[in-house]
Amino acid sequence: MISEPSTPDSTDPFAHPAPPGSRPRLAILGAGPVGLEAALAAREGGFPHRVYEKARQPAGHVRRWGHVRLFTPWRMNVSERMRRALAEAGIPFELDPEEAPTGHDYADALLDPLWHSPLLSGALHTGTEVVGVTRAGLLKDDAIGSPDRGAGPFRILLRDGRGRERAEYAEIVLDCTGVRSRPNPLGDGGIPAPGETALESRIHREIPDFEDDAGEWSGRTILLTGGGHSAQTAARALDRIARHDPDTRVLWALRAPLSLAEDPADDPLPHRAELARAAQALARGEGALEVLEGFVVDALEPAGGRVAIRLRRRDGAEMRTVEAERILALHGGVPDDRIHRQLQFHECYATSGPMKLAAALLGSAGGDCLTQVSHGVETLLNPEPDFFVLGEKSYGRNNTFLLQVGWSQVDEIFGHLADR
Ligand SMILES: Cc1cc2nc3c(=O)[nH]c(=O)nc-3n(C[C@H](O)[C@H](O)[C@H](O)COP(=O)(O)OP(=O)(O)OC[C@H]3O[C@@H](n4cnc5c(N)ncnc54)[C@H](O)[C@@H]3O)c2cc1C
Repeated sequence: MISEPSTPDSTDPFAHPAPPGSRPRLAILGAGPVGLEAALAAREGGFPHRVYEKARQPAGHVRRWGHVRLFTPWRMNVSERMRRALAEAGIPFELDPEEAPTGHDYADALLDPLWHSPLLSGALHTGTEVVGVTRAGLLKDDAIGSPDRGAGPFRILLRDGRGRERAEYAEIVLDCTGVRSRPNPLGDGGIPAPGETALESRIHREIPDFEDDAGEWSGRTILLTGGGHSAQTAARALDRIARHDPDTRVLWALRAPLSLAEDPADDPLPHRAELARAAQALARGEGALEVLEGFVVDALEPAGGRVAIRLRRRDGAEMRTVEAERILALHGGVPDDRIHRQLQFHECYATSGPMKLAAALLGSAGGDCLTQVSHGVETLLNPEPDFFVLGEKSYGRNNTFLLQVGWSQVDEIFGHLADR
Protein backbone atom coordinates (compact mmCIF):
# COMPACT_ATOMS: atom_id res chain seq x y z
CA MET A 1 0.00 0.00 0.00
CA ILE A 2 1.28 3.47 -0.82
CA SER A 3 0.74 5.97 1.99
CA GLU A 4 -0.08 9.56 1.14
CA PRO A 5 2.62 12.08 2.03
CA SER A 6 1.41 14.50 4.69
CA THR A 7 0.19 17.83 3.32
CA PRO A 8 2.19 20.88 4.46
CA ASP A 9 0.36 23.00 7.02
CA SER A 10 -0.99 26.00 5.07
CA THR A 11 -0.71 28.23 8.17
CA ASP A 12 2.95 27.40 8.86
CA PRO A 13 5.05 30.34 7.59
CA PHE A 14 8.06 28.07 6.88
CA ALA A 15 6.13 25.34 5.05
CA HIS A 16 5.89 27.10 1.66
CA PRO A 17 7.90 29.45 -0.54
CA ALA A 18 7.01 32.95 0.73
CA PRO A 19 5.13 35.54 -1.34
CA PRO A 20 7.46 38.09 -3.03
CA GLY A 21 8.35 41.06 -0.84
CA SER A 22 8.10 39.16 2.47
CA ARG A 23 10.77 39.68 5.13
CA PRO A 24 13.46 36.99 4.60
CA ARG A 25 13.08 33.95 6.83
CA LEU A 26 16.16 32.70 8.58
CA ALA A 27 16.87 29.02 9.24
CA ILE A 28 19.51 28.24 11.86
CA LEU A 29 20.87 24.71 11.73
CA GLY A 30 22.05 23.44 15.12
CA ALA A 31 21.24 24.68 18.62
CA GLY A 32 24.77 24.79 20.00
CA PRO A 33 26.25 27.93 21.57
CA VAL A 34 26.75 29.60 18.17
CA GLY A 35 23.25 28.63 17.00
CA LEU A 36 21.97 30.29 20.18
CA GLU A 37 23.94 33.46 19.50
CA ALA A 38 22.53 33.51 15.96
CA ALA A 39 18.96 32.97 17.19
CA LEU A 40 19.27 35.88 19.62
CA ALA A 41 20.68 38.05 16.83
CA ALA A 42 17.83 37.03 14.48
CA ARG A 43 15.34 38.03 17.15
CA GLU A 44 17.06 41.38 17.70
CA GLY A 45 17.11 41.97 13.93
CA GLY A 46 13.39 41.14 13.61
CA PHE A 47 13.95 38.23 11.18
CA PRO A 48 11.36 35.44 11.22
CA HIS A 49 13.57 32.56 12.37
CA ARG A 50 13.55 28.89 13.16
CA VAL A 51 16.23 26.70 14.73
CA TYR A 52 16.55 22.98 13.93
CA GLU A 53 18.37 20.76 16.41
CA LYS A 54 18.98 17.08 15.84
CA ALA A 55 19.23 16.15 19.52
CA ARG A 56 16.21 15.93 21.78
CA GLN A 57 17.47 18.90 23.77
CA PRO A 58 19.45 21.99 22.79
CA ALA A 59 23.27 21.94 22.88
CA GLY A 60 23.25 18.28 21.84
CA HIS A 61 27.00 18.20 21.18
CA VAL A 62 28.01 20.06 24.35
CA ARG A 63 25.89 17.57 26.34
CA ARG A 64 27.86 14.67 24.84
CA TRP A 65 31.01 15.89 26.56
CA GLY A 66 29.11 17.60 29.38
CA HIS A 67 31.23 16.01 32.13
CA VAL A 68 34.42 17.60 30.70
CA ARG A 69 35.59 21.02 31.93
CA LEU A 70 36.09 23.75 29.32
CA PHE A 71 39.50 25.40 29.17
CA THR A 72 38.01 28.87 28.86
CA PRO A 73 36.43 30.59 31.86
CA TRP A 74 32.87 31.92 32.02
CA ARG A 75 33.92 35.41 30.93
CA MET A 76 35.01 33.97 27.56
CA ASN A 77 31.98 31.72 27.14
CA VAL A 78 29.16 34.27 27.44
CA SER A 79 28.67 36.82 24.67
CA GLU A 80 27.52 40.40 25.22
CA ARG A 81 24.33 39.53 23.37
CA MET A 82 23.70 36.60 25.74
CA ARG A 83 24.27 38.89 28.74
CA ARG A 84 21.68 41.33 27.38
CA ALA A 85 19.24 38.49 26.79
CA LEU A 86 19.75 37.08 30.31
CA ALA A 87 18.97 40.51 31.75
CA GLU A 88 15.95 41.00 29.50
CA ALA A 89 14.53 37.58 30.34
CA GLY A 90 15.24 38.10 34.07
CA ILE A 91 17.39 34.96 34.27
CA PRO A 92 19.69 35.07 37.31
CA PHE A 93 23.32 34.63 36.29
CA GLU A 94 26.01 35.25 38.88
CA LEU A 95 28.94 32.97 38.23
CA ASP A 96 32.62 33.48 38.89
CA PRO A 97 33.89 34.94 35.59
CA GLU A 98 37.28 33.28 36.11
CA GLU A 99 35.92 29.81 36.74
CA ALA A 100 35.82 27.31 33.86
CA PRO A 101 32.51 25.42 33.71
CA THR A 102 31.97 21.84 32.66
CA GLY A 103 29.92 21.34 29.51
CA HIS A 104 26.88 20.42 31.64
CA ASP A 105 27.36 23.54 33.82
CA TYR A 106 27.56 25.62 30.67
CA ALA A 107 24.34 24.19 29.25
CA ASP A 108 22.49 24.16 32.60
CA ALA A 109 23.33 27.71 33.67
CA LEU A 110 23.36 29.53 30.33
CA LEU A 111 22.32 27.74 27.18
CA ASP A 112 19.18 25.92 28.34
CA PRO A 113 17.68 28.87 30.25
CA LEU A 114 18.06 31.09 27.18
CA TRP A 115 16.70 28.50 24.78
CA HIS A 116 13.67 27.97 27.01
CA SER A 117 13.12 31.67 27.72
CA PRO A 118 10.19 33.56 26.18
CA LEU A 119 12.74 35.41 24.01
CA LEU A 120 13.12 32.37 21.78
CA SER A 121 9.69 30.94 22.36
CA GLY A 122 8.56 28.77 19.46
CA ALA A 123 11.82 29.16 17.50
CA LEU A 124 13.58 25.98 18.64
CA HIS A 125 12.66 22.65 17.02
CA THR A 126 14.50 19.84 18.78
CA GLY A 127 14.54 16.23 17.60
CA THR A 128 14.75 17.67 14.07
CA GLU A 129 17.67 16.63 11.94
CA VAL A 130 18.64 18.68 8.90
CA VAL A 131 19.22 16.08 6.20
CA GLY A 132 20.07 18.44 3.36
CA VAL A 133 19.68 21.98 2.05
CA THR A 134 19.13 22.93 -1.57
CA ARG A 135 17.69 25.75 -3.67
CA ALA A 136 14.02 25.20 -4.50
CA GLY A 137 13.79 24.46 -8.22
CA LEU A 138 17.54 24.53 -8.88
CA LEU A 139 20.23 21.89 -9.14
CA LYS A 140 23.80 22.39 -7.96
CA ASP A 141 25.05 23.20 -11.44
CA ASP A 142 22.26 25.64 -12.35
CA ALA A 143 23.11 29.39 -12.52
CA ILE A 144 26.75 28.73 -11.67
CA GLY A 145 28.21 31.43 -9.43
CA SER A 146 25.29 33.72 -10.22
CA PRO A 147 23.42 35.89 -7.70
CA ASP A 148 20.28 34.67 -9.51
CA ARG A 149 20.47 31.60 -7.32
CA GLY A 150 19.25 33.85 -4.52
CA ALA A 151 15.97 34.62 -6.33
CA GLY A 152 14.17 31.70 -4.72
CA PRO A 153 14.24 30.20 -1.23
CA PHE A 154 16.32 27.40 0.20
CA ARG A 155 14.49 24.11 0.57
CA ILE A 156 15.47 22.27 3.75
CA LEU A 157 14.80 18.57 4.24
CA LEU A 158 14.09 17.74 7.88
CA ARG A 159 13.66 14.40 9.63
CA ASP A 160 12.19 13.86 13.08
CA GLY A 161 13.12 11.17 15.61
CA ARG A 162 10.54 8.77 14.13
CA GLY A 163 11.94 9.10 10.63
CA ARG A 164 9.13 11.34 9.34
CA GLU A 165 10.32 13.87 6.80
CA ARG A 166 9.13 17.30 5.73
CA ALA A 167 10.53 20.24 3.78
CA GLU A 168 10.67 23.79 5.03
CA TYR A 169 11.74 26.99 3.28
CA ALA A 170 13.92 29.97 4.21
CA GLU A 171 15.72 32.75 2.37
CA ILE A 172 18.81 32.75 4.61
CA VAL A 173 20.52 29.69 6.13
CA LEU A 174 23.11 29.74 8.92
CA ASP A 175 24.70 26.32 9.28
CA CYS A 176 25.95 26.02 12.88
CA THR A 177 26.01 22.21 13.10
CA GLY A 178 29.56 21.88 14.45
CA VAL A 179 31.80 18.91 13.68
CA ARG A 180 30.88 16.42 16.39
CA SER A 181 28.26 14.49 14.41
CA ARG A 182 30.90 13.02 12.11
CA PRO A 183 33.84 11.70 14.14
CA ASN A 184 36.98 10.83 12.19
CA PRO A 185 37.66 7.12 11.77
CA LEU A 186 40.68 5.58 13.51
CA GLY A 187 42.13 3.87 10.42
CA ASP A 188 45.41 5.05 8.95
CA GLY A 189 45.09 8.12 6.73
CA GLY A 190 41.61 9.04 7.99
CA ILE A 191 39.54 6.32 6.30
CA PRO A 192 38.21 3.37 8.28
CA ALA A 193 40.63 0.52 8.86
CA PRO A 194 39.46 -2.82 7.41
CA GLY A 195 37.05 -4.21 10.00
CA GLU A 196 36.41 -0.84 11.67
CA THR A 197 32.94 -0.29 10.22
CA ALA A 198 31.75 -3.76 11.19
CA LEU A 199 33.04 -3.24 14.73
CA GLU A 200 31.54 0.25 15.12
CA SER A 201 29.42 -0.73 18.13
CA ARG A 202 32.60 -1.74 19.99
CA ILE A 203 34.41 1.59 19.46
CA HIS A 204 33.92 4.58 21.79
CA ARG A 205 34.26 7.91 20.02
CA GLU A 206 33.41 10.40 22.78
CA ILE A 207 35.35 11.12 25.98
CA PRO A 208 33.74 8.77 28.50
CA ASP A 209 32.62 9.94 31.91
CA PHE A 210 35.41 8.04 33.68
CA GLU A 211 34.15 9.07 37.13
CA ASP A 212 30.63 7.75 36.73
CA ASP A 213 31.58 4.78 34.55
CA ALA A 214 34.93 3.78 36.11
CA GLY A 215 33.75 0.15 36.34
CA GLU A 216 33.48 0.02 32.54
CA TRP A 217 37.19 0.79 32.18
CA SER A 218 38.87 -0.47 35.32
CA GLY A 219 40.55 -3.88 35.02
CA ARG A 220 40.30 -3.92 31.20
CA THR A 221 42.78 -3.79 28.36
CA ILE A 222 42.14 -0.55 26.48
CA LEU A 223 43.50 0.87 23.24
CA LEU A 224 43.41 4.68 23.12
CA THR A 225 44.10 6.40 19.78
CA GLY A 226 44.40 10.11 18.98
CA GLY A 227 46.65 12.87 20.27
CA GLY A 228 44.48 16.02 20.58
CA HIS A 229 42.99 17.56 23.70
CA SER A 230 40.22 14.95 23.95
CA ALA A 231 42.68 12.05 23.74
CA GLN A 232 44.98 13.78 26.24
CA THR A 233 42.06 14.22 28.64
CA ALA A 234 41.23 10.52 28.31
CA ALA A 235 44.88 9.49 28.70
CA ARG A 236 45.12 11.38 31.98
CA ALA A 237 41.93 9.80 33.34
CA LEU A 238 42.95 6.31 32.21
CA ASP A 239 46.34 6.75 33.85
CA ARG A 240 44.58 7.41 37.16
CA ILE A 241 42.43 4.31 36.71
CA ALA A 242 45.43 2.15 35.80
CA ARG A 243 47.42 3.36 38.81
CA HIS A 244 44.49 2.50 41.05
CA ASP A 245 43.81 -0.90 39.50
CA PRO A 246 46.95 -2.65 38.19
CA ASP A 247 44.79 -5.10 36.20
CA THR A 248 44.02 -2.20 33.88
CA ARG A 249 46.28 -2.08 30.82
CA VAL A 250 46.16 1.00 28.60
CA LEU A 251 47.95 1.24 25.26
CA TRP A 252 48.10 4.74 23.80
CA ALA A 253 48.81 4.62 20.06
CA LEU A 254 50.06 7.98 18.79
CA ARG A 255 50.52 8.55 15.06
CA ALA A 256 53.07 11.29 15.74
CA PRO A 257 54.70 12.86 18.80
CA LEU A 258 52.24 15.00 20.78
CA SER A 259 52.19 18.45 19.24
CA LEU A 260 51.36 21.13 21.74
CA ALA A 261 50.77 24.56 20.30
CA GLU A 262 51.66 26.33 23.53
CA ASP A 263 54.44 25.84 26.00
CA PRO A 264 52.38 25.05 29.12
CA ALA A 265 54.49 27.56 31.05
CA ASP A 266 53.18 30.39 28.79
CA ASP A 267 49.58 29.22 28.60
CA PRO A 268 47.13 31.71 30.17
CA LEU A 269 44.49 28.98 30.55
CA PRO A 270 45.47 26.99 33.67
CA HIS A 271 43.32 23.92 32.93
CA ARG A 272 44.86 23.56 29.49
CA ALA A 273 48.38 24.08 30.81
CA GLU A 274 47.83 21.42 33.44
CA LEU A 275 46.52 18.97 30.83
CA ALA A 276 49.47 19.65 28.51
CA ARG A 277 51.98 19.00 31.29
CA ALA A 278 50.26 15.77 32.29
CA ALA A 279 49.94 14.56 28.68
CA GLN A 280 53.59 15.32 27.91
CA ALA A 281 54.68 13.30 30.94
CA LEU A 282 52.44 10.38 29.94
CA ALA A 283 53.72 10.46 26.36
CA ARG A 284 57.27 10.27 27.73
CA GLY A 285 56.25 7.06 29.47
CA GLU A 286 56.13 8.55 32.96
CA GLY A 287 52.79 7.00 33.85
CA ALA A 288 50.92 3.73 33.82
CA LEU A 289 50.21 3.88 30.06
CA GLU A 290 52.15 1.96 27.40
CA VAL A 291 52.85 4.51 24.69
CA LEU A 292 53.17 3.35 21.09
CA GLU A 293 54.46 6.45 19.34
CA GLY A 294 54.55 6.50 15.55
CA PHE A 295 51.95 3.71 15.15
CA VAL A 296 48.78 3.78 13.04
CA VAL A 297 45.85 1.37 12.99
CA ASP A 298 46.08 -1.05 10.08
CA ALA A 299 43.14 -3.42 10.66
CA LEU A 300 40.67 -4.65 13.27
CA GLU A 301 38.98 -8.00 13.73
CA PRO A 302 36.86 -9.61 16.43
CA ALA A 303 38.70 -11.94 18.81
CA GLY A 304 36.03 -13.45 21.05
CA GLY A 305 34.97 -10.77 23.53
CA ARG A 306 37.96 -8.68 22.50
CA VAL A 307 39.08 -6.92 19.35
CA ALA A 308 42.43 -7.73 17.74
CA ILE A 309 44.00 -4.52 16.46
CA ARG A 310 46.88 -4.60 14.01
CA LEU A 311 49.12 -1.57 14.46
CA ARG A 312 51.73 -0.57 11.92
CA ARG A 313 54.64 1.79 12.39
CA ARG A 314 54.13 4.72 10.01
CA ASP A 315 57.34 3.89 8.18
CA GLY A 316 56.13 0.30 7.78
CA ALA A 317 59.12 -1.04 9.73
CA GLU A 318 57.13 -2.88 12.35
CA MET A 319 53.75 -4.53 12.87
CA ARG A 320 52.18 -5.35 16.19
CA THR A 321 48.87 -6.93 17.11
CA VAL A 322 47.22 -6.11 20.40
CA GLU A 323 43.96 -7.44 21.79
CA ALA A 324 41.76 -4.96 23.66
CA GLU A 325 38.40 -5.13 25.38
CA ARG A 326 37.79 -1.42 24.88
CA ILE A 327 38.78 0.87 22.02
CA LEU A 328 38.65 4.60 22.58
CA ALA A 329 39.20 6.50 19.31
CA LEU A 330 39.38 10.27 19.83
CA HIS A 331 40.33 11.88 16.53
CA GLY A 332 38.02 14.91 16.38
CA GLY A 333 35.35 15.36 13.75
CA VAL A 334 34.65 16.83 10.32
CA PRO A 335 31.85 19.04 8.96
CA ASP A 336 28.82 17.17 7.69
CA ASP A 337 29.08 17.95 3.97
CA ARG A 338 25.85 16.06 3.25
CA ILE A 339 23.98 19.16 4.42
CA HIS A 340 25.45 21.49 1.79
CA ARG A 341 26.31 19.02 -0.98
CA GLN A 342 23.66 20.43 -3.38
CA LEU A 343 24.74 24.02 -2.85
CA GLN A 344 27.49 25.99 -4.54
CA PHE A 345 29.58 25.91 -1.43
CA HIS A 346 33.30 26.44 -1.95
CA GLU A 347 35.01 24.14 0.49
CA CYS A 348 38.70 23.98 1.39
CA TYR A 349 40.29 20.80 0.05
CA ALA A 350 42.33 20.41 3.22
CA THR A 351 40.26 21.55 6.19
CA SER A 352 36.75 21.16 4.68
CA GLY A 353 35.85 24.63 6.01
CA PRO A 354 34.60 27.49 3.79
CA MET A 355 37.45 28.25 1.36
CA LYS A 356 38.03 31.95 2.07
CA LEU A 357 38.02 31.46 5.83
CA ALA A 358 40.32 28.44 5.57
CA ALA A 359 42.77 30.52 3.52
CA ALA A 360 42.63 33.33 6.09
CA LEU A 361 43.23 30.87 8.91
CA LEU A 362 46.19 29.38 7.11
CA GLY A 363 47.70 32.84 6.78
CA SER A 364 46.95 33.89 10.36
CA ALA A 365 49.52 33.80 13.11
CA GLY A 366 49.98 30.81 15.36
CA GLY A 367 48.00 27.65 15.79
CA ASP A 368 46.52 28.33 19.18
CA CYS A 369 42.85 29.03 19.72
CA LEU A 370 43.55 31.98 22.02
CA THR A 371 45.15 33.85 19.12
CA GLN A 372 42.06 33.34 16.96
CA VAL A 373 40.04 36.33 15.88
CA SER A 374 37.25 36.49 13.37
CA HIS A 375 38.54 37.26 9.90
CA GLY A 376 35.74 39.48 8.66
CA VAL A 377 32.48 38.90 6.84
CA GLU A 378 34.24 38.56 3.46
CA THR A 379 35.72 35.24 4.60
CA LEU A 380 32.25 33.91 5.45
CA LEU A 381 30.79 34.60 2.00
CA ASN A 382 30.81 31.85 -0.61
CA PRO A 383 29.31 31.42 -4.08
CA GLU A 384 25.91 30.30 -2.73
CA PRO A 385 24.15 33.56 -1.80
CA ASP A 386 22.83 33.75 1.77
CA PHE A 387 24.21 30.38 2.90
CA PHE A 388 26.72 30.79 5.72
CA VAL A 389 28.68 28.26 7.75
CA LEU A 390 29.41 29.57 11.24
CA GLY A 391 30.80 28.29 14.53
CA GLU A 392 32.99 25.26 14.90
CA LYS A 393 31.90 23.89 11.52
CA SER A 394 33.44 26.95 9.86
CA TYR A 395 36.88 25.84 11.07
CA GLY A 396 36.48 22.34 9.62
CA ARG A 397 39.43 20.16 10.60
CA ASN A 398 41.25 23.12 12.09
CA ASN A 399 40.70 22.50 15.80
CA THR A 400 41.53 25.98 17.06
CA PHE A 401 37.97 27.32 17.02
CA LEU A 402 37.04 29.40 20.03
CA LEU A 403 33.53 30.36 21.12
CA GLN A 404 34.46 34.04 21.05
CA VAL A 405 35.16 33.74 17.32
CA GLY A 406 31.59 32.47 16.92
CA TRP A 407 30.17 35.58 18.62
CA SER A 408 32.15 37.82 16.20
CA GLN A 409 31.02 35.78 13.17
CA VAL A 410 27.38 36.28 14.18
CA ASP A 411 27.93 40.04 14.59
CA GLU A 412 29.52 40.21 11.15
CA ILE A 413 26.78 38.24 9.41
CA PHE A 414 23.99 40.28 10.98
CA GLY A 415 25.86 43.48 10.07
CA HIS A 416 25.96 42.15 6.49
CA LEU A 417 22.21 41.36 6.59
CA ALA A 418 21.22 44.64 8.26
CA ASP A 419 19.45 46.15 5.23
CA ARG A 420 17.44 43.02 4.35
C1 LIG B 1 35.86 18.38 25.21
C2 LIG B 1 35.73 19.73 24.57
C3 LIG B 1 36.12 20.86 25.25
C4 LIG B 1 36.00 22.12 24.65
N1 LIG B 1 36.40 23.22 25.36
C5 LIG B 1 36.28 24.46 24.80
C6 LIG B 1 36.64 25.63 25.52
O1 LIG B 1 37.15 25.56 26.64
N2 LIG B 1 36.46 26.85 24.93
C7 LIG B 1 35.93 26.99 23.67
O2 LIG B 1 35.79 28.10 23.20
N3 LIG B 1 35.58 25.88 22.95
C8 LIG B 1 35.75 24.64 23.49
N4 LIG B 1 35.41 23.51 22.77
C9 LIG B 1 34.96 23.66 21.41
C10 LIG B 1 33.44 23.78 21.56
O3 LIG B 1 32.82 22.53 21.36
C11 LIG B 1 32.91 24.71 20.64
O4 LIG B 1 33.54 25.96 20.82
C12 LIG B 1 31.40 24.90 20.69
O5 LIG B 1 30.65 23.82 21.15
C13 LIG B 1 31.07 25.19 19.26
O6 LIG B 1 29.76 25.58 19.20
P1 LIG B 1 28.93 25.42 17.87
O7 LIG B 1 27.60 25.99 18.21
O8 LIG B 1 29.68 25.95 16.71
O9 LIG B 1 28.84 23.84 17.61
P2 LIG B 1 28.26 22.60 18.53
O10 LIG B 1 28.40 22.96 19.95
O11 LIG B 1 28.95 21.46 17.99
O12 LIG B 1 26.74 22.65 18.17
C14 LIG B 1 26.23 22.12 16.96
C15 LIG B 1 24.79 21.68 17.19
O13 LIG B 1 24.25 21.26 15.94
C16 LIG B 1 23.50 20.07 16.14
N5 LIG B 1 23.49 19.34 14.87
C17 LIG B 1 24.53 18.68 14.29
N6 LIG B 1 24.15 18.16 13.11
C18 LIG B 1 22.85 18.52 12.93
C19 LIG B 1 21.91 18.30 11.88
N7 LIG B 1 22.21 17.61 10.76
N8 LIG B 1 20.64 18.80 12.04
C20 LIG B 1 20.31 19.52 13.16
N9 LIG B 1 21.18 19.74 14.17
C21 LIG B 1 22.44 19.26 14.06
C22 LIG B 1 24.23 19.36 17.25
O14 LIG B 1 23.42 18.41 17.91
C23 LIG B 1 24.67 20.51 18.14
O15 LIG B 1 23.72 20.83 19.14
C24 LIG B 1 35.51 22.24 23.35
C25 LIG B 1 35.12 21.09 22.66
C26 LIG B 1 35.23 19.85 23.26
C27 LIG B 1 34.82 18.63 22.49
